[in-house]
Amino acid sequence: MTASFDRLQQVLRRLPGLGYRSAERIALYLSVEHPEKSPELAQALAEASEKIGRCAVCGNMADKPGDGSQPLCDICANPVREASLVCVVESVPDLLAIEKSGAYRGVFHVLHGRLSPVKGVGPVQLNLASLSERIASGKVTELILALSSDVESEATCHYIQDEVVKGRVKLSRIGFGLPSGTLIGYADATTLRSALDSRKGL
Ligand SMILES: [Zn+2]
Repeated sequence: MTASFDRLQQVLRRLPGLGYRSAERIALYLSVEHPEKSPELAQALAEASEKIGRCAVCGNMADKPGDGSQPLCDICANPVREASLVCVVESVPDLLAIEKSGAYRGVFHVLHGRLSPVKGVGPVQLNLASLSERIASGKVTELILALSSDVESEATCHYIQDEVVKGRVKLSRIGFGLPSGTLIGYADATTLRSALDSRKGL
């Protein structure tokens, strides 16, 4: 072990889904077994951090425009999408899963997490202020909550209903067809389609 190796392993361990052994394996791969791969990875990371950002409207991933204007994602920029229908999801993978199902023609709003007092995630840490602004703009007529069904997601749904939407627009929630505890991002296309079709008004 060297100090630099320890540092690399520690940084890798902070990534989601990587435990001690996986971080050690990747650190060994990049530093000792295939050091020629490191510059390519470093370059891709630098480029991603420079060029990819969050859509200023919905929080989805978006290219940062070279002219310094606000990033806008492909979905928000698409005039064919139904901009008055907004599907609220916890994460970009959830958005991608719904997109892949092909069952949805509206736009999205990505929270980037859910309320979790235990993990120190409160309303301020979520992308909620811009959701309230979207509703206030008068351009939204219906909000669909496409959140999972565990305790934290339930709490997040209630917060959005009581503190963000406050009766200003029609609110519904998907759920029928989704087994309890199912993560949206892992549900198959057919399940997601039926869950969206049978959304229930709140
Ligand atoms: Zn967007």
